[in-house]
Amino acid sequence: MDDANAIKTRVDGLLSGSADRRSGFGLAQRKAALVRLGETILAYRDEIARAVGTDLGKPAVEADLVEVLPVLAEIAHRGRHLRRWMRPRRVMPTLMTLGTSAALYPQPKGVALIIAPWNFPFLLALSPVVSAIAAGNAVAVKPSELTPATSALIARLLPQALPGLVEVFEGGQDVSQALLAQPFDHIFFTGSPGVGKIVMAAAARNLTPVTLELGGKSPVVLGEDADLARAARWIAWGKVVNAGQICVAPDHVYIPERLMGPLAAAIRAEWQGMAAGGTTAIVNDRHYARLNALLADASAKGAQVEALGPDRPELRHMAARLLTGTTAEMAISSEEIFGPLLPLIPYRDLAEPISAINAGPKPLTIYAFGGADLVARLRAETSSGSLGVNLTIMPFIHQNLPFGGIGIRAWVRRMAGWALTASAT
Ligand code: NAD
Repeated sequence: MDDANAIKTRVDGLLSGSADRRSGFGLAQRKAALVRLGETILAYRDEIARAVGTDLGKPAVEADLVEVLPVLAEIAHRGRHLRRWMRPRRVMPTLMTLGTSAALYPQPKGVALIIAPWNFPFLLALSPVVSAIAAGNAVAVKPSELTPATSALIARLLPQALPGLVEVFEGGQDVSQALLAQPFDHIFFTGSPGVGKIVMAAAARNLTPVTLELGGKSPVVLGEDADLARAARWIAWGKVVNAGQICVAPDHVYIPERLMGPLAAAIRAEWQGMAAGGTTAIVNDRHYARLNALLADASAKGAQVEALGPDRPELRHMAARLLTGTTAEMAISSEEIFGPLLPLIPYRDLAEPISAINAGPKPLTIYAFGGADLVARLRAETSSGSLGVNLTIMPFIHQNLPFGGIGIRAWVRRMAGWALTASAT
C-alpha cells in the first residue's frame, strides 16, 4: 500500500500531463485507448470472472455476464458515438448578441478520481473509467478493499491497457482519504450515502466537482391491474440476482391487500425455480451479520419471516426470504436492505404507498407494475431517479438512458458522457 506521499507523487504525475492531453489526446487516440482497453479485458476475461468468483462466490458465467460484458458493451457504445459527442455545437445568437457567433467546445476536465464499491467490483470500477477516458481524461482508480482479488487484477490490468492514463490505488479508507486530499478535476464516487457525505466534504476543500452514485431503497408498487405472473418474475429475479446486493434492487413491495396471497405464491414459485437466494454470496461476515440483525429485529417486533430454502453460512449464501407484517419501527423499513430479503406491504388505497414513498428520501428507482393509471399517478405524485414500468433493474443497464437519482441519492448524468465539459468561445 502507498503512503500519503507516494499517493501524492503518483497523482501529481497524472495531473502534470493534463495540458498535453488537452491537445494530444484527440478522437483517434481516445478510440485507440478504448480499443486497447477492450482487448486487454478480453485477454483477461476468464481471470476477471475467476477473481469476481473468489470475492463474491459468483459462478464464472454470471460474473462474465454481469461484470465483463457490460463494460465491453460500454466501450463499443462510447467508441461508436464519440465523434458526435466531441463535435463543437453552434449556438444561436440571442437578441442582445445579434451579429456575434458562439459555439460549445467539449473539453476534457483533466484527471478524475474514481472510488468504487464492492457489489459489482469490476463493472463499477471500469465503467466510469471508460467514460472518463472517452472524454479525454486521465484517471485514478480506487477499487473496493472488500473484493481484494478483483482489486489486485484491476491494478494489474489497467496500467497495461492504458499506460500513462491511469493509476490504480489499492486499499481501504486511509488510501481513499489520502486520494480525496488531492486536487482532482472531478470525483466520481459510487457507494453508500454515509461515505458520500465524507467524499463531498473532502471535495469541497479543493472545490472539486463530484458525481455521487449512492444507494437507497427502491420500492415496487403493484396496481390492482398488475399482471401478477410478470410482476413475480421480475421482482423475484431482481431480488436474488447478485443476492440482492444491487443499488437498484427492488427493496420492498407495496401490494393491494387482496393480491398479497397470490403475489407471495407467485414469487415463491419463481424462487423455487431459480435456486432461491441466487448463487452469489453475501460479500463478507459483517454484511451477513447485518442482514441477520435486520431479520432478528423484524421478527422481535412482530414480522413473519419465511425462508425459501436453507442458508449456507459457511459460504455466506443466504436464502431469499419473504417478510410480512413489517412496520415503520423496524430497521428493515428504513435501512437499505442490500440482500435477498423482501418485505411485502399491503395497502388499501394507492395514496398509502405514495405517501410512504414521499415521506422518505427520494428513491433511486421506483418500479410500477400495472397499467397507465398507476404509472401516471406515480409519475405525477412521486419523485425518483427513474421509474421502471413492468420490469426491474433494466433502466440501470440501458446505455441510452441517463442514470442517477435525485438529491442526495445520486447526482449523475454519466450515460450522456459526464466528463465532457463545455466552454464557449
Ligand atoms: P461504501 O460507501 O462503504 O464504500 C465505497 C468506497 O468508499 C470503497 O472504495 C471504500 O473503500 C471507500 N470508503 C469507505 N469508507 C470511506 C471513508 N470513510 N472515507 C473515504 N472512503 C471510504 O459502499 P460499499 O459498501 O462498497 O457499497 C455499497 C453501497 O453502494 C450501497 O449503499 C449501494 O446502494 C451503493 N451503490 C450505488 C450504486 C449506484 O450506481 N448508485 C451502485 C452500486 C452500489
